[in-house]
Amino acid sequence: DTFFLELPKVELHAHLNGSLSPATMLELKRFHADSGIEDKTNAFFDEFQIGAGDSRNLAECFQVFNIAHSLTSNPKALALATSLTLQEFQDDGCCYLELRSTPRDTPQMTKLQYIETIIDIIQKSSLHLTMISKLIVSINRKLPISEAEEIVKLAIECYKKYPDVVVGIELSGDPMAGEFKSFVPALLEAKEAGLKITLHCGEICNPEEILEMLKFKPDRLGHGTCIHPKYGGTEETWSTLCKLKIPVEVCLTSNVNTKSTPDYESHHFKLLYDAEVPVIICTDDKGVFSTSLSREYQICVNTFSLTSSQTARLALNACQYVFADNARKPLNDKLLNFIGKHSL
Ligand code: 5GP
Repeated sequence: DTFFLELPKVELHAHLNGSLSPATMLELKRFHADSGIEDKTNAFFDEFQIGAGDSRNLAECFQVFNIAHSLTSNPKALALATSLTLQEFQDDGCCYLELRSTPRDTPQMTKLQYIETIIDIIQKSSLHLTMISKLIVSINRKLPISEAEEIVKLAIECYKKYPDVVVGIELSGDPMAGEFKSFVPALLEAKEAGLKITLHCGEICNPEEILEMLKFKPDRLGHGTCIHPKYGGTEETWSTLCKLKIPVEVCLTSNVNTKSTPDYESHHFKLLYDAEVPVIICTDDKGVFSTSLSREYQICVNTFSLTSSQTARLALNACQYVFADNARKPLNDKLLNFIGKHSL
C-alpha cells in the first residue's frame, strides 16, 4: 500500500547494528572480501534474522548483534553500514531519523572514532538525502559503570563539537544485565550537559526498576512492554506513566518476534493509545526483524483498525517528540501539508 510509504514518517528508535538489511550485510561482506579481511561471518549469516515463532529466548536474541558487529568493526565498514542504512530509511519514506548506536573499541578504532565515523556520514548525508538524520549515543547496560561514564563523556564532547548531529543518549542492551540505578549519575551528567535521554524500559517484568526509570523522567521510553498490570506491571507503574505521559517508542514486530508480546492483537500499543500516552511507531532493528517503518505503520493500522486520518495523526504527533528541537516545526508543517493534500 503506497499510503504507508508516502506518509512522511519519523523514526526515533533504530539501533544501527540491528538495522542492517540483508543487502547491506552482503555489501559489507563484499567490502571485507575486497579489502582482504578474513570473513568470519559465514557460519552465522542465516542466524541474524529473528522471525515470528523463532525458538530463541530473549537472551539468545541478543547474541545476533555479534554478527552485525563483526561486519562493522573498522571505520570504513562502519561508514558504509551507516550510509546504506540511512539510504534505506529514506527510501522507506522516512523524513527524519534518530539513529542510535553503542560506541565500541575494536582493534581498528576507538570509541571516539566510532562515534565520529557515524557523525561524518550523517553530516555528508545532508548533501544527497532529503531525510534529516541525528545520532543518539547508546550505553549497553551490561557494561561496567566506568565504561558507561566514558561513553557519556564522549557523547558530551561530541555534542559540543557537533550540536547539529548528536542529540541524545540512551540505555539499552540485555534487560537482564545491570541495574538502572547504577547508571543514574552518568545519565544525569548527560542531561545537565543538554543531551536528551531515552531509556529502554519494562522489556521484562521488573516493576521496581520501571518506577525508578519513570521517576527519573526521561524524555522518552523505549518499548514499555511490561508497564500495564495486564503485562507484568503494577497499578502504580501504569498510573505513573499515565500521569507523566512520557512518550513511548513502540516496536510491534520486535516485541512479537522476541516473544515479549504474545501477538500483535495483544500488543500494549492499544492500551497506551487509549490512555493518551504519546506513542511513536518505530522499527527497533529492521534488519533483525525483517521489517520497515512503513510496514510497522501498516501492521499497527491493520491490527487496531485505525483510519487514515488517525494514522496520519500518529505520524504527526511523533514529530513533537524528536530530540532536535529545531526540527519539530518543519516536520510538523510537512505532516500538516500531507494531511491537507489528502484531506485527512
Ligand atoms: P548497536 O548499538 O551496536 O548499533 O546496535 C545493536 C545493539 O542495540 C545491541 O547490542 C543492543 O545493545 C541494542 N539493542 C538492539 N535491539 C534491542 C532491544 O530490542 N532491546 C534492548 N534492550 N537493546 C537492544
